[in-house]
Amino acid sequence: MRRIKVDPQFHQRVVAFNSSLFSTRSTKFKNPLAALGTMSVLKGTRKKYGIENTVAEAYVKAIIAEYQHILSADEAEMQILIVKFRGILHEDNITEKFWKAIVKAMQYSALRGKEMLQFLQKSNIRTCVYCHSQLTLVVNKTKTTLKGLLQLDHKYPKSKFPFLCTSFYNLYPICSNCNMSKSDDPTDFNFYCKDDQLDLLTFGVKSSSVLQYERTGNLEDLVITIKQLDQTTDLSEYHRMFNIKNIYETQTDIVQELIEKKQVYNNPYNQTLINNFNRLFSDQSMIKRLIIGNYDRPEDMLQRPMAKFTQEIARDLKLIK
Ligand SMILES: [Zn+2]
Repeated sequence: MRRIKVDPQFHQRVVAFNSSLFSTRSTKFKNPLAALGTMSVLKGTRKKYGIENTVAEAYVKAIIAEYQHILSADEAEMQILIVKFRGILHEDNITEKFWKAIVKAMQYSALRGKEMLQFLQKSNIRTCVYCHSQLTLVVNKTKTTLKGLLQLDHKYPKSKFPFLCTSFYNLYPICSNCNMSKSDDPTDFNFYCKDDQLDLLTFGVKSSSVLQYERTGNLEDLVITIKQLDQTTDLSEYHRMFNIKNIYETQTDIVQELIEKKQVYNNPYNQTLINNFNRLFSDQSMIKRLIIGNYDRPEDMLQRPMAKFTQEIARDLKLIK
């Protein structure tokens, strides 16, 4: 829904992130290049991964040769890499044993548990990129610990394209609901983009329904609208897969609160209070945040669940600008 613009500055951060990936780990940590190195030399003729050893070796060697490029490859570059790797071993012929061994060697689990989580936190990306209504952390329970683990979706699934399993632009933070409904199905949605069409759709509330609600006080009278902004992308599959309509059309209580807040903050007395807030807060945005109860700026839409919905409805109601 809300996408991230990959400008040169953002891409530079990704490249820097990848070039120092796992560098803070202990000496016991098996570096992906070392692990792939071990995988790239197979002894004897017995098929270790259920495919010809020479093919498996060539595939792994191709990862080693372009390791850094693979990690930071953007959407277009990933597609070129896919064609290249398909020339070595078609994705339909990849065995489970083989892709799992690559994913393990490339340390996908470790990346998800620490480095990627830290990067996304620093980048203020905390909600599911598909639905924006949930956080992306799941609790992972081991025998001794409970740990928050980042849930990631591979745009190009790791079972078909294991060489992209730790590629930054292939990893989409996602909530468990969306993860369950999506599984390995592809979507046309690109979270990372280079153009300025960052929002694919926008939320609003039908003005006649607000008038009706003000007369009746009945929540069911409020009609939430979802308008598609980018006419070039077919979002029907996206809506179906992630249940967007069902999630958002039921959030009338948030709309109700915003309507009530508008009454309160339109009062001249309260306007004086707001003016006084200006002296209390150095950040003007904080006042709007307090009023709507969520982040108010478009660039912060991924910081907290429902932020996009709340700020767009608040703007539609003219509670904030
Ligand atoms: Zn989600």
